[in-house]
Amino acid sequence: MTELITSTAAELAGLVASGEASAVEVAQAHLDRITAADGDLHAFLHVDTEGALAAATAVDEARAAGRPLGALAGVPLAMKDVVVTKGLPTTSGSKILQGWRPPYDATITTRIKAAGVVMLGKTNMDEFAMGSSTENSSYGPTHNPWDLSRIPGGSSGGSSAAVAGFEAPLAIGTDTGGSIRQPAAVTGIVGHKPTYGGVSRYGLIAFSSSLDQAGPFGRTVLDTALLHEVIAGHDQADSTSINAPTPPVVAAAREGAASGSLAGVRVGVVRELAGDGYQPGVLASYDAAIETLQALGAEIVEVSCPHFEYALAAYYLIAPSECSSNLARFDAVRYGLRVGDDGVNSLEDVMSLTREQGFGPEVKRRIMIGTYALSSGYYEAYYGQAQKVRTLIARDFAAAFELADVLVSPTSPFVAFGIGERAADPMAMYINDLCTLPASLAGVPAISVPCGLSVSPSHPPLPVGLQIMAPTQADDRCYRVAATFESVTERLSAPLELVKA
Ligand code: GLN
Repeated sequence: MTELITSTAAELAGLVASGEASAVEVAQAHLDRITAADGDLHAFLHVDTEGALAAATAVDEARAAGRPLGALAGVPLAMKDVVVTKGLPTTSGSKILQGWRPPYDATITTRIKAAGVVMLGKTNMDEFAMGSSTENSSYGPTHNPWDLSRIPGGSSGGSSAAVAGFEAPLAIGTDTGGSIRQPAAVTGIVGHKPTYGGVSRYGLIAFSSSLDQAGPFGRTVLDTALLHEVIAGHDQADSTSINAPTPPVVAAAREGAASGSLAGVRVGVVRELAGDGYQPGVLASYDAAIETLQALGAEIVEVSCPHFEYALAAYYLIAPSECSSNLARFDAVRYGLRVGDDGVNSLEDVMSLTREQGFGPEVKRRIMIGTYALSSGYYEAYYGQAQKVRTLIARDFAAAFELADVLVSPTSPFVAFGIGERAADPMAMYINDLCTLPASLAGVPAISVPCGLSVSPSHPPLPVGLQIMAPTQADDRCYRVAATFESVTERLSAPLELVKA
């Protein structure tokens, strides 16, 4: 069965379509892998064995009846627990939602089901997607399949670990400030944050609504593009959804791999996103990646984006501000946990007891920062300023895209660090997002593609990610460049035998 779990999504779809493997066999192989590996990885919060086998059976029946199958029919997927799934536990990594089963499906859930993609279960994450390591989950950390003592990135660390650890060939993540790209980078897989509005947010549990964006993970660029096409496209239920055709990401991925050339492509190297504070092993892989892009025929230009330096400060005002408002809905009345409802406590007491016990420390920190930043005396000084910086960052992108077709940087300044190493220091955690925040604030698409292993005396060989950013609605450019790059780079693969290094 090893062959089934190490196959790409595109290969699995081919096997199912041709009848060489049934969707049920494919699903079972992955469920068996989860049984064998998830005790070590803890990528899943909930495994839906019954639902997965039923969905797979439906695909096999459709094939037997001669009905047309979608491009990913019968391919298993791991779903981040921030996405609502009708009847299945959905916690957003928080104790406050323990036991909640949503009465409806998110738009992306509906689309995944309609495409015949087989959802295996829900993956672990930082509570309400706040974090970069998955250590902020109320349900314990997820472990990186490259080295079980290390973090798989975050906040979508359950999804990245599931894909890197061969529990699923595909996964959904969400990226508010980097939570798809950074976990992809540190687990050696591909992850794409679509253009803001390119994928519906309907049914994503909100963290920071002006930044949240769902997107795909895969072990190859093509797999990631195939999943992107399944979930993307206009949705009337989301007022920020873009009403325009989805960029041709699958065609771009195929063409990028087939052409083997980047002739005519101008690649902008962002001066501000490298240098001091970046790990040497990351910079070495990044420099080698730029040489590879050049060898492929790309024209390398250096670009300067002076306001990127303020992205971290702006993000950590805007995101907490929006979260302080979004998380007000967890009031002990509508969903999940209720503490102290004894007939004696007042309604207000029940609300505060519930929020005090239901939210973890990072979530509370953000609610407090956000409430403070939005308070009338400080609004202009903090939130208003941060919004101005956001505009300046968008202008930096616009100017840079005059000089280059895509921009590149490392995805993260660091490789996967040890569980517990940064957990006590919020700033040490926040700087993981240094490279990913600008694209989030400007709403432009960005992909992370593996670019080799960092070799260092201080850690075992660990994956490094190359970030490729493109203008709004030019997601296909990210995929095209990533696929060409991938076609000449060795594919990284975590060991099947999980080890604690
Ligand atoms: N690490 C960032 C944060 O903690 C980004 C999280 C995300 O993209 N969801 O806010």
